[in-house]
Amino acid sequence: MRLFVRAAPEVPLPSALRLHYDLVEDPERADVAVCLGAPDAALAPERPAWAGLIPVVALETRWPLADDELDTFDAGRFTQAVRAGLAAGARYRDVPAAARAKAAEDPYLGLLAFIHMRDGASARLDDAAGPGVAWPFERLAPSRGDLGGGALVADLGAAGYVSRTVNDAGHPCPECGSLKALLRDVCATCGSPDIGEEMLVHHFTCGYQGPEQTFDAEGDLYRCPKCRRTLRHIGMDYDKPGAITVCRACDARAEETAVAGRCLSCAERFPIDRSPRRFLYDYAVTPKGLDALFSGVIELQDPHAILSRFVSLVGLETLLSVGRKLRALGERRAFGSSVLTIDVGAETDPAARGDLARRVGEELAALLRTEDTVAYHMSRLTVLLAGAGPEHGPDAADRLRQALGRVFSDTVVEAMDIHCRPLDAFLEGDRPDLSEKGAEDEA
Ligand SMILES: [Zn+2]
Ligand SMILES: [Zn+2]
Ligand SMILES: [Zn+2]
Repeated sequence: MRLFVRAAPEVPLPSALRLHYDLVEDPERADVAVCLGAPDAALAPERPAWAGLIPVVALETRWPLADDELDTFDAGRFTQAVRAGLAAGARYRDVPAAARAKAAEDPYLGLLAFIHMRDGASARLDDAAGPGVAWPFERLAPSRGDLGGGALVADLGAAGYVSRTVNDAGHPCPECGSLKALLRDVCATCGSPDIGEEMLVHHFTCGYQGPEQTFDAEGDLYRCPKCRRTLRHIGMDYDKPGAITVCRACDARAEETAVAGRCLSCAERFPIDRSPRRFLYDYAVTPKGLDALFSGVIELQDPHAILSRFVSLVGLETLLSVGRKLRALGERRAFGSSVLTIDVGAETDPAARGDLARRVGEELAALLRTEDTVAYHMSRLTVLLAGAGPEHGPDAADRLRQALGRVFSDTVVEAMDIHCRPLDAFLEGDRPDLSEKGAEDEA
């Protein structure tokens, strides 16, 4: 077994490593990499290209990218950890060298390699993880708090490079996102968890139905509180149709209870309808994903696909017809609307373009209201801000510019050509997009 050892300066190598393993200088030739004895900062000021690709055992240190960690050297445990990494190492070396080099650079290919080498990525319930669940690849692609386990894997899934199966489902806290929450039946009237059940008794003879305790018991027999007759045979003269819920806090009696959550992380109380069910997925690389990994070619930066995960997109023609109706309505009711245009094709590098689309999508999702309409056509986003007159529309453009300016350089933001104009001006033909459309129509 060949080990590549990345040791902190002046940390002695356990002699067992020298004795029992073949130590190699080049991580590309190793079965498993070992990070030896140094605090995180000393070992990982930058991420080496092989990190996350070949299996890593951290020895006497912690390293976020490690597959396994040993606090102290123990020959038996160490062998076990290395053996566990061998299969992954072999899978990695199956990938052609040129494609491995690409996987070291491209975050999507790197993630595919990571999942493929480990034969899938399973959601793991983990009390130590913030939301209570973690995926191994989050070491590579930190989750942005979405329980899909990272934006990158969602992109891979949407494009068919990974498949997902439901591992479990949960109701995250609407306040902090944690899945660690009590979910329990509560009183539908006052929300108290202090509820109990009462058995109902139905007396056929007189039609009375009420809680069991209102029927006096005479020996083994009930007596009806309404007609004072004795109930003889269940199914013959009386029945027990079920139970009702009784709230000890507000005294309400009801057939239905509600479900409410209490977050164990932040103590927030929430009704279940504030926390839609989220699925926790396991991921596996699909044949299409393997093709991409082995060829080093991945087509994943399509802005339309990325944007549509954040905002619902319509065709430009649809937006125009909504715009015309809005203009007519605005003339009658005296309100104005604005149109925002953004060029998301400004970046030439596909990875950067994908990232740009993702950021724009995130910002738009925060900015837009339900009455707004967004179209995507030829790398250009057109956003119809209904009812946003000349005093509000430019604000939206400014906010978008500022938000993107925090992440991208001025040159990039400039090139995105973010513009806001009144709906009228837009409909009067101030629409660079439509020259394309016109050409199509003539053809
Ligand atoms: Zn009765
Ligand atoms: Zn109640
Ligand atoms: Zn919470």
